[in-house]
Amino acid sequence: MPETLDNPEVPVPEELKGQVKITTLDRIYNWGRRSSVWPMMFGLACCGIEMIAAAASRYDLARFGMEIMRPSPRQTDLIIVSGTVTKKMLPQIIRLYNQMPEPKYVVAMGACACGGGPFKEGYSVVSGIDKFLPVDVYIPGCPPTPQALLHGLITLQKKIDKQSIRKVKWYQKHESREVPVPLLGPDLIDPRDFPELEECEPSES
Ligand code: SF4
Repeated sequence: MPETLDNPEVPVPEELKGQVKITTLDRIYNWGRRSSVWPMMFGLACCGIEMIAAAASRYDLARFGMEIMRPSPRQTDLIIVSGTVTKKMLPQIIRLYNQMPEPKYVVAMGACACGGGPFKEGYSVVSGIDKFLPVDVYIPGCPPTPQALLHGLITLQKKIDKQSIRKVKWYQKHESREVPVPLLGPDLIDPRDFPELEECEPSES
C-alpha cells in the first residue's frame, strides 16, 4: 500500500495533509506487470492438462489477470514449462523463451520440469528445465493440481512485487544475451560447456 507523505522537508498544503500518498516507480511497474501476466499457450505432457484446467472456468486464471494465453511467444511474458522436457523438445523450448520479450518469467510445473520426475536420468529426458532456463517458481507434484498451479502463480506475483527496476536484468544498460540453444546430436550439447560453440550461430534444424 502507498505510504502517507510525512517528510517535513516536502511542503504539503494544509488541506491536503494526511491525504497525499507516495509510491515508487517500482511499485507502479510491479503492479502493472503482476496484474497482467500473459502466459504462453504451451503444454508438454500430462501437466499441461492441469494447466488447461486451471485456465478454465472452475479455477479461473482470469481472477489473477492471467486469462489471456497467447500462442505466440512474442506476445507473452510467462512460460509455464508444464510436463516432461525431452532432449528433442528442449531446443524448441529455449527458442520460444528467447523469442519472448522482456520482462519474462519461467515457471517449472511438475516433477518432470523441476527435476526430471519419474523419468529422471532417462536417456531421452532432461533432469530439470533449470539446467537451461532461469526458473522463477517451482511447482512440485505429479501432476500438480490446478490449485497448486494457482499458488505457484501467486508466488510469482509476490516475487514480481519485490523486484526493482534498478536491479532486474532487463532494465540494465548492457544488452541481455539470449540463452544458448542446445544442439541435438547423439546426446544434447550445451554450448555453455563449449565457449567456442557459443560463438557459432545456432543450427536451424
Ligand atoms: S510430473 Fe507427472 S504428470 Fe507431470 S508431466 Fe511428469 S509424469 Fe506427467
